[in-house]
This record gives sequence, structure tokens and C-alpha cells, in this order.
Amino acid sequence: MKAVLGGKGANLAEMTNLGVPVPPGFTIAADQCVSYLEHGGITEALRTEVQHALVRLESASGKRFGDAGNPLLVSVRSGAAVSMPGMMETILNLGLNDVTVEGLAAASGNPRFAYDSYRRFLQMYADVVLGVSIHRFEQLLSTKRLTNGVSTDAELSADALRSLVHEYQQLVRSVTGADFPMDPQVQLWGAIEAVWKSWTLKKAIDYRKVNGIPHTLGTGVNIVSMVFGNMGDDSGTGVAFTRDPSTGEHRFYGEFLVNAQGEDVVAGIRTPLHIDEMAQRLPGAYEQLLDTQARLERHFRDMQDIEFTVERGTLYLLQTRTGKRTTAAALQIALDMVTEGLISQREAVLRLQPNQLDQLLHRVIATTSQSTPIAVGLPASPGAASGIVVFDPDVAERRHQQGEQVILVREETTPEDFHGIVAARAVLTARGGMTSHAAVVARGMGKCAIVGCTAVEILPDQRSMRIGDAVIAEGDWLTLDGGTGRVFAGDLPTQPSEVMRVINGQQAESDAPTYQGFAKLMGWADSHRRLRVRANADTPRDARMARNFGAEGIGLCRTEHMFFEGDRITAMREMIVARDEGGRRRALEKLLPMQRADFEGIFQAMDGYPVTIRLLDPPLHEFLPHGGEESSLLAASLHLSRQELSRIVSSLRETNPMLGHRGCRLGIVYPEITEMQARAIFEAAVRAYRRGIDVHPEIMVPLISDVTEFRHQRAIIERAADQVMGVMGERVPYLIGTMIELPRAALTADEIAAEADFFSFGTNDLTQTTFGLSRDDAGRFLPQYVERGIYPDDPFQVLDTKGVGKLVRWAVRDGREAKPGLKVGICGEHGGEPRSVAFCHSVGLDYVSCSPYRVPVARLAAAHASL
Ligand code: PEP
Ligand code: MG
Repeated sequence: MKAVLGGKGANLAEMTNLGVPVPPGFTIAADQCVSYLEHGGITEALRTEVQHALVRLESASGKRFGDAGNPLLVSVRSGAAVSMPGMMETILNLGLNDVTVEGLAAASGNPRFAYDSYRRFLQMYADVVLGVSIHRFEQLLSTKRLTNGVSTDAELSADALRSLVHEYQQLVRSVTGADFPMDPQVQLWGAIEAVWKSWTLKKAIDYRKVNGIPHTLGTGVNIVSMVFGNMGDDSGTGVAFTRDPSTGEHRFYGEFLVNAQGEDVVAGIRTPLHIDEMAQRLPGAYEQLLDTQARLERHFRDMQDIEFTVERGTLYLLQTRTGKRTTAAALQIALDMVTEGLISQREAVLRLQPNQLDQLLHRVIATTSQSTPIAVGLPASPGAASGIVVFDPDVAERRHQQGEQVILVREETTPEDFHGIVAARAVLTARGGMTSHAAVVARGMGKCAIVGCTAVEILPDQRSMRIGDAVIAEGDWLTLDGGTGRVFAGDLPTQPSEVMRVINGQQAESDAPTYQGFAKLMGWADSHRRLRVRANADTPRDARMARNFGAEGIGLCRTEHMFFEGDRITAMREMIVARDEGGRRRALEKLLPMQRADFEGIFQAMDGYPVTIRLLDPPLHEFLPHGGEESSLLAASLHLSRQELSRIVSSLRETNPMLGHRGCRLGIVYPEITEMQARAIFEAAVRAYRRGIDVHPEIMVPLISDVTEFRHQRAIIERAADQVMGVMGERVPYLIGTMIELPRAALTADEIAAEADFFSFGTNDLTQTTFGLSRDDAGRFLPQYVERGIYPDDPFQVLDTKGVGKLVRWAVRDGREAKPGLKVGICGEHGGEPRSVAFCHSVGLDYVSCSPYRVPVARLAAAHASL
């Protein structure tokens, strides 16, 4: 029922069905929020239905709404289909007024408690519904503490609280010009509307954007009978995870506060106690909680994040939901649950989101670093990060936009800080526990966070903090290790994560438990996928790395990338500015051995797997000197004057280089380039073959728009193959195919397939040319497009399945009609993006190819697509 009721409402209903102790309540479906936001106003039908539900709630709880003797009080809380922790509004103790507060005092036998609940309700409701800033109430509260000579709220007497309530009411009157509503019905509808409106708060919109949650879902509204964790020392409230959300260890993990209410724990306002202490403080409820959490986990078959309240020794569950966790924990939990027989291997594979794998590759602080931490907090979310300290989310956002790495330091974070967390590389809070807002949000975003770091004292100027004797000001550097909770001064060196160290051969697999778990799960994923996964790699080093990430071949070797290094660029420049074919051939002869050596290294790294090598692609002027010393040196080495050189350079300049002399157009105008590259490939292949390496070169012609271009290039390549293999006396198998990266190539795929051995979709250029969007310039305005919902995503990141995807689909269909079984892949950036991988699976591609680091992501995404 999540889609209808929202996650909270659906799970409350589910828990009720299970017989778990849940206070009675009802849920207004999320579609009511959508229609309210669209049309405004509340329908009569809804008013009647809520009225009926309220009557049932009264009979279930044995209390009456607005009753002077024993009043029913409710909480009004949001809850969307997808969890958005702390992003929307909650109101507690609703139903209190000047009359019912006396009823509550009498019924509970505790006037202090009644007035404390009332003043909490007044400030919460006034803040959320009436728009009176919470800080104004906090000022009155702290003044009250001062005038009563006490240091905590808990020490304020019933009388003090009663007079505070009057002050709160006066404040509301003076700010809003109206009395605080005393009618519980008015209060209820005010709260419901506020929850609905909170769907469109900036923080909620930001959160949905970052997490890819549709804006059209709306939120449910849960109206639940109040239970009180603040009824004395036999009461309390807490949040807990059925397993450790950082490591995945199978142990009950949580935090609680004695004599506290609702949001105190989640908001990180007081640093809570470890759940184990609950066994001493509230033993009966603790036993019941242990039993309940295990039942809930078995029922939902996943790690649960629960909220509970103990009212005078009686346990109530207020919420259960699938718990957010780090990737390492997700891995551990999935593997353990398979061992425990709770889920299947297939489900375990589906439990990890492909993009989450990134986190396992995060860097950690170098073990060589001798620094001692200046403070240690709770390790809320792993990863190592350094940056300059800022204390304000707006400053974090601004300085991030200016290109700085920032670490956001806060007393505690609230949903108001969300944009600052997004901008920061890491978050550090002085208060709050592992389940505080900062911890949950950072963990969900895979961002380093340390919370509850009590040594941090933010100074009143809000631009500096004290840690021990040290004062650290805004702009000073700090390094955090979210995996251990250690905080260091300065900018410390970091090192690869455990998984990366094994992949790089720096650590043995046998003492790398996270790597072992990763490898096991990836093995299961591989057994489920149909799509092959290759890597885009241009050097032997990248190719080896790609193999270690599990790449099954190279889908794109961009040969021009081989020319940027060292003295290669000089030979390349000689070739470009050559005055005639003879000059060009002389320069190409210098380039040939360099390319050949690289290709041989790549074949070796990819022993037994296909290697797709693309002929030279980019506009030549990209390689030209940019003036100054570079030009003088080149002119001298080419025996040209500076003037001659600059004349040649400007003759090569193009207005629209992306649509200019690039791709196969180079090899057509200068066939000797294609010839040299083909020779280098075949010579390398034969050499590697002689060394016992199983080689499968696939030569790829870029940027064709018509089969005639392909035919022209193919002839040159075949001639080179015959020549090289004839001279070397050894034949190796090879394929010659083409990229499909221009709409016209996709539209004439049948003709091309008749002559090409394979297709590889270059969706970077295909996106550029289908949209008519410059790859190099779109970054200036595309973010605005996405922000305003003109495009759902940046089409250079997520494949546009509607338009570009249609060309892909047609080309696959027409290509395979002309040549059944035609091998087809993708090598644009989209090959490593999970949603695009799913599309590639659905249209029947044979493989995706992406950067080495994205290979595990693509492997898992391909498995998800098959499942
Ligand atoms: C492409 O266009 O998608 C492609 C892979 O080639 P490049 O990015 O090198 O233009
Ligand atoms: Mg391209």
C-alpha cells in the first residue's frame, strides 16, 4: 500500500495487522495531497471521511477529541511513498487547548507534563502552520530558564510552564494578529494542510532532486493517537536499526532518551544513550523491543529502521521502514540474509543499487599519515574528505559554487541544512547520534559524515569553533575520516579504499573482508546478466585496471588519447602541420611504434577478450600549440618560421569543430593516417599472438554518416591487414565495424550493417547531433533545463530513450534485419549509467562499454535489468 498511503502509513497498517503494539490512527492517502496542491481547497467528501475516521479513532482509544476530561491527542505526520527523512512537517500533541490541557493534567496526574506538552504543541504548531519562527519561542524558553534559575527545561516547574504558555500565546497574537486556534478541528485541518504544503518546501524539493524522487507522488498524512515518552523516568523514546547501518553487523543498534518526546532523538537536539542501556533503565520494554524488532525484520525481510516510544513502561512502535545504510553495510546485510535463509541470491543482487558501489571505491586517509586526530566523533558515514570549514549551509553552497571543497560543521543539522550538505564534501556535527539527521542524510548520499563529536564547540560568532585548545576558523582546512570518526587538522593525504587496494594489487584478497563480500555479490550478479560489460580504456594500465574491475574486453580505445603524452604530441603535431603527404608519412612513421607498443600492451591485458580500437577521431586543431613557447619550439623542430606555423594553425581552425574535419573524415582526406593506424594494430596483434596471447582486435571507424565512408575506410584497413599478415607470416582474426553516432548513420543502418561486422553506438555524439546540443557548451544552460523540468535529466548523463533511444532501437532492428546476429554495443558515457544500461538490455544490445571505474556499476545494473 506504499504508493497509496506513503511508506509510514502503509507500514503502520502492516504493523497493526501483525499485532505489533502501535497506537491507533488513520492515514489520508497521498493522492489527496496531489489534488490539494493542484486545486487548493478541501473537498466535502474528504471532510466527511476524516470525521468518520476520527470517530473510530476515538472509540479505539477510549478518548474523545477536545474532551475536557480525558482528551484524545494526535500526532499529524507526513509520509511519502519514498522515505524523505525529516524533509516534511510533523506536529505532535494536537488537540491541546486551554481546556483540554487541564484534562490531560488530571488524567495523567501530572500537571507539569501536561503544560510541557502544551508548550511544545504551541511552538511546533505556530512554527509549522502559522509561520511564527521557532527561534522566538526558544528565546522565551531560555529567558524562562534564566528567570527561574535553572539550566535545563526539565527543571522548569508546572507553574513556570503555565506562564510560558501564556507568553507563547501572546507571541502568536502579536505576530499573527489572531489568537492561537483553540478548536481541535481547526487545529487538525491546519496541520493537515501544512503537511500537504510541506511537500513543496525547498528542502523537500532539493531532497527529491538529489534522490531522483518524482515530484508528483505527494505525501500521505498520518493521524495517530499520541503516546508519551515524556511521562517520567519510566518513559522514553528512541530510534533503532535491526542491524548496524555502518558496517552491517548483525546486532540490534540504536539510541534512546529517557523522559523525552518524539523528535528529540531524530533532530539530534540531545545526544542520546546507547540502546544497550535501555536494558537497565526500562527492562520490560527493552525485552519486548528486542523481540519486536526481530519480528519486524523477519516480516519485512530487510533491515528496519524503527521509532518507538515507551509510555509508563508500555512499548509502542511509531514507525518502521527499510533502513538506510552504507554500501559496505548493504553488502554485508545482503550476504548475511542469504546465509540466514531470509532472502535468495537473486534478491541479494537486487538489494544493492548499482550507483551505491561507488562508495566502496571511496578513498580513506592514508595509513602513512602520522597525524593524530584532534577529535573523535561517531563514524556516521564512511569516506575520507578534506576541505575548508564553513559553519553555515548558505556559505557552504556559495563557496562550493566558487569551486572550493567545503566541510560543513554544525551544532547539529536539520532538514533546513540540506542544500549545505549537498554542497559539502563532508559533514561534522557536535551533537546528535548515528540516527540523527546529518547521519541519515549523509549516509543516503554516500557522503562522509561524523556526528556527535562532543569536543567541537562552535563559538558564538558562528564563524569559528574550538576543539580542545585549538580555534579553527571558517576557511581553515580539516580532514575527516567518516569510517572511524576521526577529525584531523589540515589537508591530509588519502589512499585507495580496501576494495581499490585489492584491485590495484596492493592488498591480499585474503585479508580484505569487504572485497570478498563485494566479489561474491558481483559473482552472483554476473551469473544473472545477459549484457556483456566492456571498458573504455586507452592505455595498457587502464586496460589492466578494467580487467580487475571485471571488464570483458575493451569497447572503445580512443587512439587520439595516446598522443597527448610526453614527446608523442610533437610527432603528432608534425603530422598535422605537414605540408604534403610525404611529410605526413614521415611523421606517421614516428607515431607507429608508439601506437604499436600501446596496442600490444592492451592486447596482453585483455588476453582472450575483444579489444575495439577506434581510428583517430578529434578535430586536428585540438593538438595544435596554443602560442607562446610551445609554438616557438614546434616551429623550430619543424624548421618553420613562427609566421608560417601560425598561418598553418589558423588555416586548420574551424568554426564548428564538433561538426568539422574529424572522425572518418580525417582518414578519408588523409588515408595514410588510417593506413598507419591499421598497420600498428595488426603488427601489435601478430606480435602479441606470437607471444601466446589470444587476440581479438576489432577496428572501429568513427563518425560515419553513409556506408560509402565506411567502405572507403574498410578497404584501407583490409589492405593493411593483408600486407602486415603477409609479411609477418601469421594471420589473426579481426573485425571491422563502425560507430553509429550520427542520426543519418542510424537511419541507414541496414546499408551499413551489410558491410560492417559490428556497430557501437557513440551516444555522446548521437545525443549531441540528435538534440542539436553542443557537448562542449551545453553545460552552461542544461542544468537550468533540468532544474525547470524542461528535460527530465541531462541527456548526456542519462540516455534519452524517447528520441536518441528511438534511433538506437531502429538501427539495431534494421541492422540485424540486414545482417542477422550483428554484434551491437554502446560506448558513449551512458554505458555506465544504470537506467541507460537497463535500456541497452531492453533493446537487445550485446554489450555496454564504460570507464573502468563504472564497470562494477554496469555489471550490477545489467544484472538488475535481467532480473
Ligand atoms: C561517443 O560519441 O559517444 C563516443 C564514444 O565517442 P567520443 O566521446 O570520443 O566522441
Ligand atoms: Mg563520438
